[in-house]
Amino acid sequence: MLDPEAIPSVVREVCKVIEAAGHQAVCVGGAVRDLILQGQPDDWDVASSAMPEEISKLFPNVIPTGIQHGTVSVVHKGMVIEVTTYRGEGTYTDGRRPDSVTLGVPLREDLARRDFTINAIALRPSDMSLHDPFNGMADIKAKTIRAVGDAKERFKEDGLRIFRAIRFSSKLGFSIERKTLEAVASEREMLRLVAWERIFVELTKTLNGQCPEKALDVARESGVLSYLFPDRQECSFQLVGNVPVGDSRFVMFSHLMFGASLAKTSSLFKLKLPNKLASKVGRILPRLQELPKNAMETRQVLSQMKREDHESYFHCLAQLNPEIHSTAYSQKDNPLWISDLVVDGRQIAKWYPTLTGRNLGEALKFLVDEVVKDPSINNEAAIKEKLLKFSQTVQR
Ligand code: ATP
Ligand code: MG
Repeated sequence: MLDPEAIPSVVREVCKVIEAAGHQAVCVGGAVRDLILQGQPDDWDVASSAMPEEISKLFPNVIPTGIQHGTVSVVHKGMVIEVTTYRGEGTYTDGRRPDSVTLGVPLREDLARRDFTINAIALRPSDMSLHDPFNGMADIKAKTIRAVGDAKERFKEDGLRIFRAIRFSSKLGFSIERKTLEAVASEREMLRLVAWERIFVELTKTLNGQCPEKALDVARESGVLSYLFPDRQECSFQLVGNVPVGDSRFVMFSHLMFGASLAKTSSLFKLKLPNKLASKVGRILPRLQELPKNAMETRQVLSQMKREDHESYFHCLAQLNPEIHSTAYSQKDNPLWISDLVVDGRQIAKWYPTLTGRNLGEALKFLVDEVVKDPSINNEAAIKEKLLKFSQTVQR
């Protein structure tokens, strides 16, 4: 028996008010799944037999967030709870969205439109009873992702579900049931109807899940990866899960998939990555191609990079070559950029009045190169001496 205390009291209260008015109110979707898995759901969705207008009459503060889909947001005790009227879906012709929705269907029909059995369980907070017509509970216990109904039909309706299967496999560490897995492979071309932004979101969630390598193997073996990224290279995803979640995992994935061949035209960029991430990937990948061989080379590489790229570079390097990683890591606090020099332009111009304007800029670049080669010369005396020769060779 699930513990009622695990459901936030605001959610229980909202359901109680709806039930007291003679309607049904249940928790559905990811929150129920995660609660059964002993997770701590942060997002609670409520489904109800009541129509949106009826819900709106029961609470003083209701926002009509997605009224055409039957969703309203109830603001209760400072929290926002989304309540969606039980909804049936008509036929699908665009491979993404139903042509029509019908509000006010029985609960079973609302659960039947959901993607996987583990996401199609309803929980009634008033007595903690479960409504589980597709045996999602058994699949949670068996750690299985299984489509509700015929997997091929469900993926033909909405291609995004193909990548959602992969994403949940990573997030939960579950295996995809045989027929659902066959449908991931056979219907993969339905992904052409899914916006690249949506695929990026699912891919990112896949990478940041607890078992990315398992899910990425599925994506590879089912042909999903080759379909989406025809220019990818063969690779193993073994290392991805060892990299901390966030940008670094994305960089590692990109390195393994595209490595040397990453060009501006790469299919990776069809994903419409956020600009910051796209340029980060573009900057770090070439650095992972040829690794530095000694401490001096690692300082040179680090100094040619932006400070903000170091973290992901180190995360990837730690997996690709632990030995070089530890050498590089031990060098990271050395002077690497002009701002790390003990002298500034003003001091240099005082010492050598010929060094002004463009010459001064070149002197600073020269100095950084020297200091990166030998950090011990980052002191006034040594720098002054280094600059003596330099100042004599520059054109006035
Ligand atoms: P997460 O914890 O990652 O948010 P979730 O299961 O809550 O997982 P959501 O995308 O928030 O996933 O969707 C909420 C619920 O809506 C799902 O549990 C599922 O029942 C249903 N659902 C969402 N997207 C689809 C879809 N494309 N096809 C069918 N059902 C879907
Ligand atoms: Mg959710």
